[in-house]
Amino acid sequence: MSHIAIVGAGQAGAALTAKLRAAGFDGDVTLIGDEPVLPYQRPPLSKKYLLKRMTAEQLFLRPQHFYDEHGIRVLTGQRVPSIDPAARRLTLAGGTLDYDQLALTTGAAPRMLPAALGGNLPGVHVIRQLADVDRMAPEFQPGRRVLIIGGGYIGLEAAAVAASSGLDVTLVETAERILQRVAARETSNYFRALHKAHGVRILEGTTLLGMERLPDGAIAAQLSDGVPRVADFVIVGIGVTPNETLAADAGLACDNGIVVDALGRTSDPAIWAAGDCARLPYRGQMIRLESVQNAIDQAEAVALNMLGAGRDYLPKPWFWSDQYDVKLQIAGLNTGHDRVAVRPGTTDQVRSHWYYRAGELLAVDAMNDPRAYMAGKRMIDSGRSPAPEEVADPAVDLKSLL
Ligand code: ADP
Repeated sequence: MSHIAIVGAGQAGAALTAKLRAAGFDGDVTLIGDEPVLPYQRPPLSKKYLLKRMTAEQLFLRPQHFYDEHGIRVLTGQRVPSIDPAARRLTLAGGTLDYDQLALTTGAAPRMLPAALGGNLPGVHVIRQLADVDRMAPEFQPGRRVLIIGGGYIGLEAAAVAASSGLDVTLVETAERILQRVAARETSNYFRALHKAHGVRILEGTTLLGMERLPDGAIAAQLSDGVPRVADFVIVGIGVTPNETLAADAGLACDNGIVVDALGRTSDPAIWAAGDCARLPYRGQMIRLESVQNAIDQAEAVALNMLGAGRDYLPKPWFWSDQYDVKLQIAGLNTGHDRVAVRPGTTDQVRSHWYYRAGELLAVDAMNDPRAYMAGKRMIDSGRSPAPEEVADPAVDLKSLL
């Protein structure tokens, strides 16, 4: 009987196994993950779970009996140290496992601050896994001082939860502005003002030079602005790197992600990859997507292709971020934009930013404006580009541009 193994038991791994069964695959399925728990949702970790409004069990994507009923063997707490593609065999702590086809859904890991900057001091946290949040949760008390390193979505979401919970929040961003890597100046300005209104100190163009632990357990941070800061704990959100070592060591093509073709196949015909770890084709470029939606969609597409569907996967990128009472929804990818049209909304908190390249609509950031998001997404999916002047005019009904 044929055996499909999946390494990486996150959102993509869970979606892939479930899809194999839904599509009628009746061979053996083994899902292997190094975390000690069943696959779970990550987005609520730094929000509802941290604030104890959700239990670990409620984070699980499926209960244990789902896997039992579908004949899916889940190995938790197991790291796969190596793969032998020629033998179609992988190594486990307790021996080896032969596969006919293998899917890598190994995800991404947070970048760490170097030890020389104090990155490994107790009280310095990252937010990626359940265990990270369990370690950090006791620190999260009103009145305590938190220093957040990195002004991307992870850092800003952490800042929002902390400020809303009554902590004293300072956020440091090396680049000239928060969200510089991922968003236009207009979007950075919007979120800077939002955080300022909630009492968060944002220090942009400021670099962390070092941290040390004081005798009372607090952390003293030295910043490039020369102002000494003391915090009770630190959260580091300086980006993630794809977990590709296992693939690279096995000789698979990797380039800031495990390289796959439009089907999701790696450079080895029996090995596939999906989710945050994969580098995939999108409109003539190779990209990596850090999003739940892509993890699920790509994993499901790969499951069908592993069973022979032969269907190209075309990502439809969308992302979201929750900060305070603002829901940001992003459709498309803004890479290479040369113009941004701003569409004002009914209040200051409602607006959308439309990214263009040579007149082509690439992406939309919609803040508390689900209608702008939906319209933008439909336009991008269908390759339609309304004139920037029209979208910027709040008197023009977006529906009339569809
Ligand atoms: P994430 O998904 O963790 O938010 P991003 O790469 O989108 O990842 O954002 C990380 C942010 O952290 C970027 O804005 C980057 O400029 C910033 N950053 C990276 N290294 C440092 C550092 N040493 N100190 C402060 N900010 C940093």
